[in-house]
This record gives sequence, structure tokens and C-alpha cells, in this order.
Amino acid sequence: MEHYDVLIVGAGLYGATVAQCLREKGKSALVIDKRDHIGGNVYTQEIEGIQVHKYGAHIFHTNNKAVWDYVNRFAEFNRYTNSPVANYKGELYSLPFNMYTFNKLWGVVTPQEAEEKIRSQREDAGITEPKNLEEQAISLVGTDVYEKLVKGYTEKQWGRPCTELPAFIIRRLPVRFTFDNNYFNARFQGIPVGGYTAMVEKMLSGTEIRLGVDYLEDREKWNALADTVVYTGPIDRYFDYCFGPLEYRSVRFETEVLKTPNFQGNAVVNYTDRETPYTRIIEHKHFEFGTQPRTVISREYSSEWKLGDEPYYPVNDEKNKSLYEQYRALAEKEAHVIFGGRLGEYKYYDMDAVIERALDFAG
Ligand SMILES: Cc1cc2nc3c(=O)[nH]c(=O)nc-3n(C[C@H](O)[C@H](O)[C@H](O)COP(=O)(O)OP(=O)(O)OC[C@H]3O[C@@H](n4cnc5c(N)ncnc54)[C@H](O)[C@@H]3O)c2cc1C
Repeated sequence: MEHYDVLIVGAGLYGATVAQCLREKGKSALVIDKRDHIGGNVYTQEIEGIQVHKYGAHIFHTNNKAVWDYVNRFAEFNRYTNSPVANYKGELYSLPFNMYTFNKLWGVVTPQEAEEKIRSQREDAGITEPKNLEEQAISLVGTDVYEKLVKGYTEKQWGRPCTELPAFIIRRLPVRFTFDNNYFNARFQGIPVGGYTAMVEKMLSGTEIRLGVDYLEDREKWNALADTVVYTGPIDRYFDYCFGPLEYRSVRFETEVLKTPNFQGNAVVNYTDRETPYTRIIEHKHFEFGTQPRTVISREYSSEWKLGDEPYYPVNDEKNKSLYEQYRALAEKEAHVIFGGRLGEYKYYDMDAVIERALDFAG
């Protein structure tokens, strides 16, 4: 009978990193995934010669040199730097908030002028103890930045007015008094040339993979194949939702091929007014400086999550945190199973963090 040291449930970055480490150590592993492709949420699909990020735009950025060196073994990374543009009713602003943004908003030229403008708007608002997200944002960046660049976008993301959202959601809003449009403060940043799927393919090369199979539909059969299971699916589903489902926030993507070489001139444009129904448009070719004759765009809509939908962002509130703790206690009793990754640990991890966790476990 076929037998493996480890069965890995999920061919996302966590599963692929564990599989790669095990192979390097001479251990055998079988990777299964219920989707019909590898890569999990970083999966990219080629359309019109363009790598399309099917589950949302993914920009690799890290301060961790070991993780950076690790991923560079499987892909060449380009020099892409994330510099989103905000579109507020046709007015375009640089993000994150920096001197270009302030110059466009107020005509200020020096950092001192910009700081003074924000300080005086904060003072005019006179908020000492913010009671909701609106007051919190105004007390951090003043009224103009809030009204044009924070309010509408945040309300679309959460599906509620900022006055009804708790202040703690935004502890700080990054403000830079330099002309620096680089969104991330990371030492290393880029997109794998040729897409994430090719990178994960390389990580998994030499490992046996079976796609389109759901571990939970026949777990006895799969468990019999290996001594240990690394499970990267949703932890609550593993336990048949016995304490109730963990909640997520969801995103819906509408992807379209356009017969134009360049739709918006940037990979990421955020629509920060309340009226435009989507939060942002991704033009995928700009992640790789593409010169194809056509382009592919995805409009992103924030949506309420219900059981059965694709889980995206864990909800970081007390109710869900304590529910997760209940599941984690059960997970600790599953002697032969390791729960890992964003769904197995019910935690938002950037790609570098998920790889770091997997390397800690299996590296
Ligand atoms: C919209 C969005 C944008 C993001 N952008 C960035 C970004 O720009 N930069 C960044 O660093 N990070 C980003 N991230 C985070 C990144 O997506 C994650 O860090 C990464 O995908 C986590 O990998 P994973 O292996 O833990 O999970 P996943 O990629 O979700 O992999 C889990 C896999 O397990 C499979 N599976 C689940 N249950 C079963 C089962 N029962 N049987 C078989 N298979 C199963 C699933 O099909 C899936 O393929 C973003 C996340 C989201 C939601």
C-alpha cells in the first residue's frame, strides 16, 4: 500500500513550503488540494499572456532576509514597487499619504507647510477622545484627507458608515512628509517573474500532488496514507463547525479582458468615493510591466461573507478570537495533525509570514 511520511492538505504557500522542506530532508509527502490548481490564494492564471491574480492582487514584500533568499530560489523577482493611486471622483492622489498627496490637496510645497495644515485641521476638529472611526481618522490626519481618501473607501470595505465603526480599527494612518510613493516599508519587494503559480510549481517539483480532492470528504482514507497530516484548510470546518462557524470578510472580483493595451496606467487604483461600488481596480499587466496588446482588469467589491463563500480576511474581534481559541484547544488534542497557514490558524498572514511559519515548522 502507498505510504508517505506526511500528508499535506492544501497546495498554498504554507503547504508548498512544508513539502519543499520535507523533500530536501529526504522525507516523502503527498500534497492534496480541493481546488483544481496549486498555489492556494496566490494562484495566478495566464490570460492574454498576462498573469492574472485570481484571488486578489499579491505583492511580495518582506524584511526577512531568510524568507527573501528562500523565495528567490524558486523565482526571479522583478522590481515592482507598490504605489497605488487614489481616484476620488476623478481627482487622482498618490498613496500612501505623502508630499505628492498633500501638494495635490492643498498646493503645499514643503513638509513644514503640510504638517501645519494637518495640525490645524486636527485642532479645528477639537477631538480629544475619538468615539468612532470617523473621529479617530480626523484626529490622525485631519478632515480633508479623511473626507477624500479614507471615508468612502472604509465605508465600502466595512459596509457601514464610519460613525458606526469602532475607533480601534485604525490605530494609525501612515503619513509621510517625503515624496515617497512606495506603499510598503519593506527591505525587499517584487513580483515573481512569470507569476506565482510557476514559483509554487517549482517549490512542489518532485512532490506528488493530487488536485480536486477534498480531504474532509474521506479523511479516514487519506489519514491511512501517512503518519502525520499537515492541514491548511479552515480549522472550524475540520471540526464540523461544532462551536459554530468562524467569520470572515469577503471580496468579490469581476474580471474583464479589454481591447486596449493600457486601461489605467497603474496596477492598483483605489476608488475612495462612496458612490463607486467597487473599492479598487487591479490592472494585472502592470505588476510585470506588460506590453501585451490587450489588458485584464479586476474590479474588487467588498462583500459580506456567509458560510460556503470563499474565506478571505479573518474577523479580528473578541467573538471570533475566543471561538478560534475553542477550536485551537481541540486541535491540540489531534496528536497526528498539525494545523498551519491562514485558515488552519485563523490569522491574516502576509505571504512572507506564512512562509516563515512553515520554515519554522519544517525547515
Ligand atoms: C485579497 C487578498 C490579498 C492579499 N494580498 C497579499 C499581498 O499583497 N501580499 C502578501 O504578502 N500577502 C497577501 N495576502 C495574503 C496571502 O494570500 C496569504 O499569506 C497566503 O495565501 C496564505 O497561504 P496558505 O497556504 O496559508 O493558504 P491558502 O493559500 O488559502 O491555501 C490553503 C489551501 O488549502 C486548500 N484546502 C482547504 N481545505 C481543504 C480540504 N478540505 N481539502 C483539500 N484542500 C483544502 C485550499 O483549496 C487552498 O488551496 C492577501 C490575502 C488576500 C485574502
